Amino acid sequence: MMRFLIRPFPKRNEHLLAFMMRVSWLNHMRCLQDLLFSCELETLNCRIAHRKLVTGAFDVDVLAHNLQLDVSLLEDNAVNIAAAKTQAFNQEFPTDMLDFSHPKLCRQCFEEMGYIPFSSAMVPMTVCPKHGGKLTNCWHDGKLLSWGEQDIWSKLVEEPDDCSMASDDAIELSLLIVRLSSGVPDTGLPQPIHLLTLFDLLLLLRFIVKFDPRISGSSRPRYAPIDAWEHAFSLLHTWPTSIFPLFLHRETAGIETNNGHGLRAVFRDIYDELYAGPYRNTYAYSCLQKAFETFVQRSDSTTPLWSPNHKLLPSECIQNMSCKQAMQLLGLREKGLERLIKLGLLGDVSETQSGVRLLSKSNVLKFAAEQHHYINLSDLCNRMELSSSGVVQLVKEGLLPSIAQPDDEHRDWLFDTRHISRFILALSKGGCRIINNKSVLPHVPMRSLHFKGKSTAEVVSDMLAGKVKFAFHPDKNRPLSLNQFHPLVTDEPDFSHLGYLMPKQVTRLLGVNLNAVYDLAKRNYLDSQMIKLPSHSRKICLITVESINAFKAKYVLKPRKRDNLICISGPKIDGALLNIYRHVHVSEGKNHG
Ligand SMILES: [Zn+2]
Repeated sequence: MMRFLIRPFPKRNEHLLAFMMRVSWLNHMRCLQDLLFSCELETLNCRIAHRKLVTGAFDVDVLAHNLQLDVSLLEDNAVNIAAAKTQAFNQEFPTDMLDFSHPKLCRQCFEEMGYIPFSSAMVPMTVCPKHGGKLTNCWHDGKLLSWGEQDIWSKLVEEPDDCSMASDDAIELSLLIVRLSSGVPDTGLPQPIHLLTLFDLLLLLRFIVKFDPRISGSSRPRYAPIDAWEHAFSLLHTWPTSIFPLFLHRETAGIETNNGHGLRAVFRDIYDELYAGPYRNTYAYSCLQKAFETFVQRSDSTTPLWSPNHKLLPSECIQNMSCKQAMQLLGLREKGLERLIKLGLLGDVSETQSGVRLLSKSNVLKFAAEQHHYINLSDLCNRMELSSSGVVQLVKEGLLPSIAQPDDEHRDWLFDTRHISRFILALSKGGCRIINNKSVLPHVPMRSLHFKGKSTAEVVSDMLAGKVKFAFHPDKNRPLSLNQFHPLVTDEPDFSHLGYLMPKQVTRLLGVNLNAVYDLAKRNYLDSQMIKLPSHSRKICLITVESINAFKAKYVLKPRKRDNLICISGPKIDGALLNIYRHVHVSEGKNHG
């Protein structure tokens, strides 16, 4: 594989396709096809597949290798044009406002800089902000420039500039685009559109060119006439009245076609674009919506579209949704929704003059986001691993919080898992200490207490009151399960919180009998102390937890395998009750062997 002799870096504002074209001419190739051929990317060769080259949807590694560049440098300059919105060179764009199908350039800039900047791919950029001349995208014979153009460099610099003058509006627009590109938020436009970002400006221009009858635009921005953009821009100076003729035209046409009454029937595609299109939540569209609403509510309107019997005002739609929409969004039937409203989970209901019941959109969306927390009785039984009668009992005793209980109209219960989590947390606060993740006190599952004649409610209230000792083993897969709690079925004394264990507790911990524990203590493997405790009349023998841990770290009892273990004490060695093993260190093994 060949490496290019001239290996430039991509410029910070040069898209991948323009960069590849530059690489081809710097390396004295006739055209971009030659470069594709030399990179063995001939599959892209038959016609310049500009989409693939712009998005980097080809084997960029080969190109990077030939240029001896890190691939990431090339990927930074690729532009994703698959979605409606795209991010390119730290700016956001409506994707169809970018046009990579043909090169567009200022001849003078091209000569001075030697490359085609990304900004020329923006459709409304028709003039060079620096030189004030129109950007070129075709030859004198009207043929469009192409990325595969042969010797474009020499041909372009040879040809004299055509001295067509750009309009003031077009120059002003290109300067504004440059200003907004560099993040200067000053548009000099009237309120509220003075705050437009580049993204919003492009959206406004796009909307006007698409719908304004005074501009014979096109629904696809790159096919709109070049001067459409400066006309659209000139309208922005007298916002919002400048855009009323656009709406008036639609209104007149809409009423003539007699599609029906109501706003949507009359304005149809404009209405859908403003309130249901992909950009409806942008700042640009909120300005458009406001202008539209001012227009349809103007006092001299001859078309009384606003009979409240027809439909919602758009302003009502922005903040609210109808109960029907809420039902669809939440996947509920009418009865279910009414219950939530009654429980106050969806906020207040307002009613329009035409009798449509509205909920605040933000309340409904908030509930939708939290909906998974609300569960019914059988789900809660599964999560708590408790029978339904157990759950109901706990609720009736006021131990477990519920959101709603069955009534005449509704058969099911409603619980909030966040409340249940808090209940479990409160219950776990009384859990006993656990040593080495295994309680030294004997414990049983919750349900075994039922056999002793105690109800779930009694057990739980005893636990909450601190009357029952229990171990708590959190289970992150079943965080609401009551089986995380293990009541202790003994009243034997426990001093583990003081660092001592009863010999009987040690038997459970080590899995040996009581005599063996005393034998271990006698042989000083465990540290036993006679201690006088206020609760006992005589001194009692206790084993320190520290010595048990030390023993377990150093020795092994009852091993499954004896590899690398050596028996150091036992019936056959020193008359001890237990065989005690110790790990053989590798170095020791060598010395012995
Ligand atoms: Zn220029």
